[in-house]
Amino acid sequence: MHSDQYYQELRMKMVAEQIAARDIDDQEVIKAMQKVPRHKFVPLSLSDQAYTDQPLSIGSGQTISQPYMVALMTQVLQLTSADSVLEIGTGSGYQTAVLAQICAYVYTIERIETLSLAAQKILQELNYTNVDFMVANGARAWKDFKQQVDAVIVTAAAENEPVEFLECLSARGRMVVPVGQAGHVQTLFLYQKVRGQVLKSEVCHCSFVPLINES
Ligand code: SAH
Repeated sequence: MHSDQYYQELRMKMVAEQIAARDIDDQEVIKAMQKVPRHKFVPLSLSDQAYTDQPLSIGSGQTISQPYMVALMTQVLQLTSADSVLEIGTGSGYQTAVLAQICAYVYTIERIETLSLAAQKILQELNYTNVDFMVANGARAWKDFKQQVDAVIVTAAAENEPVEFLECLSARGRMVVPVGQAGHVQTLFLYQKVRGQVLKSEVCHCSFVPLINES
């Protein structure tokens, strides 16, 4: 374990080289990623790899996404400080913290209790008070989650496009979701509600762990 100062330097370098040097120019995303201490969201043995350009294992067969993927998914949602967001797949809680840094409120659902509890502990230590954690099958959230949000982010790959989730979105809501089978090339889709219609676009290819639809 190194000092906070050491990790802060790695973090600024990560944002400069992996985020800002690519196509991320939303200043709120950049500021959030300069702030959130990613090394606290990975197992201790991987602290020194936390700022490298790759996903990392977080236990329970799950991964913390590559920093660039977190930045890209956040940027395409065009979030403001007034927005509320629903995240499916809390995982390490790193993406959750980036969202909580930018938005008014984050609802986050994780099916593996130990991961959710670990994420809750870190976000509490970092003093985030605008996050609601739920342990449940998020694939059913469009049925069970009774509120409308401005954005939905799914951080596990759905086999089919989960268009049911569009029902959770407010009139100008946005949703980003990876679609495809685990272990195959997947596509990251962005949906935007605009004047009563839904626009769909492809963001990029990607590789996520599967969204598991079991209660
Ligand atoms: N954004 C997270 C990504 C974690 S990986 C991070 O960067 O740390 C995706 C997570 O989705 C895993 O923790 C997995 O357990 C969770 N997941 C998969 N299917 C789910 C479901 N149906 N409901 C809720 N969480 C789910």
